[in-house]
Amino acid sequence: MHCLRCHGLMMTISMKETASGDTVSGWRCLLCGEAIDPGITANRKGHREPMPSRARPPGTVPGELGRRPKRTQLIERGQAKH
Ligand SMILES: [Zn+2]
Repeated sequence: MHCLRCHGLMMTISMKETASGDTVSGWRCLLCGEAIDPGITANRKGHREPMPSRARPPGTVPGELGRRPKRTQLIERGQAKH
């Protein structure tokens, strides 16, 4: 198991659910402290994975990645002129 945020090593921990009082097993990142339990994982299903950076990779042009809102492409073009 590796952290979704920093890809660091995660260790198994026991967490107490505040709603039900049940103890569930989850994971905690040793590097950034990110905690994941089955409830969090279920809530994140269907969401996009966290992006470490919104900067486009070197060598690509805006729009190449596709499926991006037009507004985002315009902003990235503006930043590329710096
Ligand atoms: Zn982490």
